[in-house]
Amino acid sequence: MLTPDTEGQPPFLPPTPAGVARAAELLRAGEVVALPTETVYGLAAHALDEKAVRQIFSIKGRPLIDPLIVHGLDVEFLSTLAHFTPQARELTAACWPGPLTLVLKKRPVVPGLITAGRDTVAVRSPAHPLARTVLQACGLPLAAPSANPFGYISPTTAEHVRTSFGTKVPWILDGGPCAVGLESTIVDVSDPTRPPRLLRPGPITAEALAQILGQPVHGPESSGRIDEAQGLDAPGLLTRHYSPRTPVALLKPAEPPPLTPDQHCAWVRMGRHNKETTPPGDTDIFWLSETGNLTQAAQGLYALLRQLDEAGYAKIFCELAPATGLGATLNDRLRRAAGQG
Ligand code: AMP
Ligand code: MG
Repeated sequence: MLTPDTEGQPPFLPPTPAGVARAAELLRAGEVVALPTETVYGLAAHALDEKAVRQIFSIKGRPLIDPLIVHGLDVEFLSTLAHFTPQARELTAACWPGPLTLVLKKRPVVPGLITAGRDTVAVRSPAHPLARTVLQACGLPLAAPSANPFGYISPTTAEHVRTSFGTKVPWILDGGPCAVGLESTIVDVSDPTRPPRLLRPGPITAEALAQILGQPVHGPESSGRIDEAQGLDAPGLLTRHYSPRTPVALLKPAEPPPLTPDQHCAWVRMGRHNKETTPPGDTDIFWLSETGNLTQAAQGLYALLRQLDEAGYAKIFCELAPATGLGATLNDRLRRAAGQG
């Protein structure tokens, strides 16, 4: 039951004590295991084992200049890897475990491979019960970028991981669909003498961070720019990222798509609000939420984009969300899906 099928599709590791024990054993042996977090599924490996971490980069086709987030149970555990500043402690007290990643000064034990040679490391304590049970069982810090080929849409189900990688990732712990559905917020609080910097908008909004810290949180400043010396500021900020293969075009809230003669298109909307809408021409309409609930829209966005990408549409029109709070994060991901980050 818990051995991989190398011919057909690999079976999932079940979300049971046996599944967790097997995942922990594999991770301790230096293997890569895909596992659920509350944001998206991650491709996890022992963060201090360079050989194991190298496999993550190779499986994802991820450039080595793109540093990885290290996951751990709590501040105490992650303090062995990073220096927590007073601002970091305020944020963790309010948001951990949860979808917030902190960039902090690293300790020498963290390999340069994880940080792309920087003196900072990104750390997070995930809230997903299964991820936490695995962290507890293996006792390791886990590097775990999203379990998708580099640049493609992040996975929010075990099936998404299997569809992308097949037998390349034989170990997938199935925890059902992710509750949040968007990648974590990343904030740099490594230097107590500088204001905090938002490197990637996420489920914990800039407004929420500002309220916790009692000061505005700005950024990202260098969208998609590659700095030769430093590498990418946060490669999740590449202008094209989280992208389907099908072209994506953005629409303002409530703006109808243009008539596209002879093209079979999809129109993704945030909410239906009980209104009947007739799309122009040969366009199919999809609602992320009946009521325009953005938490629900975030949960379902990547699964819908993957489904539409497989369905053979000529173009996917996406309605932007109202631009505050979680809407700003959704719009960030939609812009990157459209290559307009
Ligand atoms: P992923 O896990 O694929 O969602 O990507 C992790 C994100 O964290 C990437 O965009 C990384 O660039 C970012 N990140 C990881 N470590 C650092 C760091 N030391 N400084 C800035 N960004 C980082
Ligand atoms: Mg990713």
